[in-house]
Amino acid sequence: ASSSEEKDLVIIGGGVAGYVAAIKAGQEGMKVACIEKRGTLGGTCLNVGCIPSKSLLNNSHLYHQILHDTKNRGIEVGDVKLNLANFMKAKDTAVTGLTKGVEFLLKKNGVEYIKGAGSFVNENDIKVALNDGGETTVRGKNILIATGSEATPFPGLEIDEKRVITSTGAISLEKIPETMVVIGGGIIGLEMASVWSRLGTKVTVVEFLSQIGGPGMDTEIAKSTQKLLKKQGMDFKLNTKVVSGDKSGDKVTLDVDAAKGGKPETLSADVVLVAIGRRPYTQGLGLENIGMELDERGRVIIDSEYRTKIPHIRCVGDVTFGPMLAHKAEEEAVAVVEYIKKGYGHVNYGCIPSVMYTYPEVAWVGQSEQELKNQKIPYRVGTFPFSANSRAKTNLDTDGLVKMLADPETDRLLGVHIIGPNAGEMIAEGTLALEYGASTEDIARTCHAHPTLAEAFKEAAMATSSKAIHF
Ligand code: FAD
Ligand code: NAD
Repeated sequence: ASSSEEKDLVIIGGGVAGYVAAIKAGQEGMKVACIEKRGTLGGTCLNVGCIPSKSLLNNSHLYHQILHDTKNRGIEVGDVKLNLANFMKAKDTAVTGLTKGVEFLLKKNGVEYIKGAGSFVNENDIKVALNDGGETTVRGKNILIATGSEATPFPGLEIDEKRVITSTGAISLEKIPETMVVIGGGIIGLEMASVWSRLGTKVTVVEFLSQIGGPGMDTEIAKSTQKLLKKQGMDFKLNTKVVSGDKSGDKVTLDVDAAKGGKPETLSADVVLVAIGRRPYTQGLGLENIGMELDERGRVIIDSEYRTKIPHIRCVGDVTFGPMLAHKAEEEAVAVVEYIKKGYGHVNYGCIPSVMYTYPEVAWVGQSEQELKNQKIPYRVGTFPFSANSRAKTNLDTDGLVKMLADPETDRLLGVHIIGPNAGEMIAEGTLALEYGASTEDIARTCHAHPTLAEAFKEAAMATSSKAIHF
């Protein structure tokens, strides 16, 4: 069988990149098909990534706070128990609601949703092995590769998602492990370490580099974050590389090598989380049938308009260059449809925020202090601690700070780095300021409501352009 009509756009992958492109193209009046093999839309982000992890982070924080942070607020609680099955059910409810919502949006925008695995037959025809059995072919004038990414495995340590897990196992463990070692102190490692540590697991994070947080996190902020997470009970081994693992015994063991001095040792735990990054996913896509090129890291090579070397085949999201973030995929998805339809589009890669949803949250946009130093770009720094912010004080939640970096001559904002309550929401203001080329004085002269955490943002801008009032 084959789909009756040629489509204006065939999208392979129904993750954030794919489904957003599908909706946008539908809105633009294009005939669209979106092929997804998972059985549900939303990709990694909605099914096993952003959304389920944030449900677990939110509810584990609530649990931890009820256990440890109520007495000083004059709240006395009795017997507090965690029901892990229901804790997971709450996550599943959020996921299902959102993935169903996306399905509705595709329908509303006239997109044909094909459930199955797509692969290139030639430059215009995609064969789909349907989830329900059988096969169909769909032909597109334009084709968008949006097949996303998968967890990078650790060589020699087979993933079973029970004792040796990726983030996918970490969001659905059936019992609370006593001990866990996390390989990789990047964002996935720290978010998942937070969830299980709050539920009672003794977690050790092993990181190869000298700082946690993965690429892009400001070193000063990374150090403060590590201190706060340590206070919550997490252990860290930095400058330490896991070299091999063995899961044949009762515990999973890992041999680690100190990258800078120190001596090698063996760690053991009930569960090991492998969180050493993600890699582009192009398996089974039949790229060899069209001679498509990948770079040395397996990413589909594209130009600035998301075109592969075959101009009507384009590519966006995790499977190509840039940070592996849902909102980056979403921006690209809108832009790529605009390029196809109108010939122009826009994504500002210098202005993509990052948020780590630990407690407190860590968020940043623009350049970090070490990046500016490395490029020999002059800068001025201003900071403001939440301990001097009235709302943080009333909330008894004063850990963290806002840090701004600005051009010393023009005062133009170069970067914002926040660790603190609600940093992930507050970074939107920094992103808007950066996008509009604001000076820190512009921000300092903008009236902010009192008492809000956002006043710390304004005062950091005051500290950068002249002086803060409350510190
Ligand atoms: P994906 O979401 O991976 O979607 C690709 C889809 O294509 C998949 O559903 C796959 O089944 C499908 N597919 C692949 N090949 C085929 C084929 N041949 N035929 C049919 N279908 C195919 N990002 C954030 O911005 N914020 C967060 O808080 C955040 N949290 C995360 C937490 C975790 C645990 C993880 C793992 C990731 C997180 N991310 C987060 C990253 C985010 O999930 C990704 O950046 C985002 O999902 C990328 O979207 P995508 O559409 O490019 O790829
Ligand atoms: P990452 O690249 O952020 O971090 C991986 C870390 O593992 C690095 O710090 C690296 O130095 C370390 N590492 C690698 N090999 C090691 C070894 N052998 N021993 C010890 N340490 C080792 O990758 P991630 O945390 O797996 O996340 C993958 C992607 O998913 C990222 O691009 C991230 O942005 C995205 N993500 C985003 C969010 C969010 O936005 N909140 C949440 C989760 C995931």
